[in-house]
Amino acid sequence: MEETSEYVPTIGLEIHAELKTKTKMFCNSKNDPDETRPNVNVCPVCLAHPGTLPVVNREAVKHVLRVGVAIKGKLADYTEFDRKNYFYPDLPKGYQISQYEFPLISGGELGGVAITRVHLEEDTASSIHDEATGLRHAEADSGLAEAGTTTIDYNRSGVPLMELVTEPTIHSAEEAGKFARELQLLLRHLGASNANMEKGEMRVEANVSVSKKTNNKNNILGTKVEIKNLNSFRTMERAVAYEIERQRTALENGETIVQETRGWDENKQSTFSQRIKEGSADYRYFPDPDIPPFRLSEIPGLGEDALRQGIGELPSERRARYVSIGVKLDDVDLYVRDMRFGNFFDAVVATYQKSQTKEISLASNYVANDLIKIVRDMEERETQPIDEIPISSLNFNKIIALLINGKISSRSAKDLLLAVISEKKDPEQLAKEKGLFQTEDAGALDEVVGKIIADNPGVVADFRAGKAAALEYLVGQGMKELRGAANPTILRDLFRKKIG
Ligand code: ADP
Ligand code: MG
Repeated sequence: MEETSEYVPTIGLEIHAELKTKTKMFCNSKNDPDETRPNVNVCPVCLAHPGTLPVVNREAVKHVLRVGVAIKGKLADYTEFDRKNYFYPDLPKGYQISQYEFPLISGGELGGVAITRVHLEEDTASSIHDEATGLRHAEADSGLAEAGTTTIDYNRSGVPLMELVTEPTIHSAEEAGKFARELQLLLRHLGASNANMEKGEMRVEANVSVSKKTNNKNNILGTKVEIKNLNSFRTMERAVAYEIERQRTALENGETIVQETRGWDENKQSTFSQRIKEGSADYRYFPDPDIPPFRLSEIPGLGEDALRQGIGELPSERRARYVSIGVKLDDVDLYVRDMRFGNFFDAVVATYQKSQTKEISLASNYVANDLIKIVRDMEERETQPIDEIPISSLNFNKIIALLINGKISSRSAKDLLLAVISEKKDPEQLAKEKGLFQTEDAGALDEVVGKIIADNPGVVADFRAGKAAALEYLVGQGMKELRGAANPTILRDLFRKKIG
């Protein structure tokens, strides 16, 4: 929303992430998000058979605590699990084990957004609402499920789920998207979650309100609406933007906003009312009597120092490091998002001094524009991701050095990069074989320039008449004639001298 608007949008996010653990949150059933057969990773505990007892998964607790350390939140000492009571077929116990008053993490900050809390809970089963055509094969074949029925897959029942809640301090759809992407990056970096939104491994709920702008700094927040079922970053940003506009228009028309839960309609590209939101009192939270409360400091391996180990350089720290050596923001983004290129670039710049800004930015250009394109093309051809960058940093540095020293043109550098990757030979040797070294032989250059001038009298006249583009055309012809093996600056000077 623009500055001049009378209304201020406010957004707070609640984000769930399925944690990467071997087993489920409270039992030994396998936690396997890729399992396609329904109801195979189940046991009496996660199916809520009477008399079974939950046992807390330490790995899941550890994941959340590591997130807490990364966002500089306060790690709980005393903690407990609570029952959140509600009925739904995907929740066989009739309650979800969650945390209420004593979350594992309180406070913290990520990408400039204040975090309220991070807690641990269990996922529900998945409900599959089948359309006539949407039946899973096994079910369709068994004849158990008919069109239009809902089937339930308990593989996800009891999978560890982290919930992170932000303060209502976000003020635009873009900012909300940026935060969610940053969290995804962090979760992946920590190995806590694959956090793929399309797969439901990360689920974002956006709380949106709009309030009238006042001169008072302590703006009173408007009534919030919660938007659910957002299964991509883009969808989330669109839904938030739509909701801001809907609420603003309603307020401008003198209507009041109803506190409710809304869904996102992909076809209509709009939000729609789902239900009037229940208050926390409806859930009758109380401490789960089956899980004794515990003190984290008493559990081996969960002390803050132990947690800090192995966290490594955080995405935000990595970003700051690249910015400090002058890398372009677009390139920084790539290196932080895609560790293959990040690590490769690190190996490349390791050979430069911080003061070699020209080398660093040139190298970054060739990684983030040219190398990435080659890798993407290879991936497209082989229809699978390439884990290792197909050139050594040593050879890459050699190409950059040839370019910096004026031995090859920038066009030749691109050709050479591709050639080194496909022929796996030394860059200097290949440059020689392919005649990529720039012609410094003044006589040869002179001859080419003379020929081009003779062949293009019209263009030459244009240049004399003051058309700058004409000179570039002539230089281009020269580069073509010399198959890229010339220094365009020298060529340009030569044309100027001969024509002028
Ligand atoms: P509830 O009790 O309805 O769950 P909470 O106070 O726990 O509400 O907040 C849930 C989420 O909603 C948090 O992310 C919080 O930042 C956000 N939120 C709270 N009030 C507002 C508001 N007025 N506008 C936008 N977001 C809000
Ligand atoms: Mg709440």
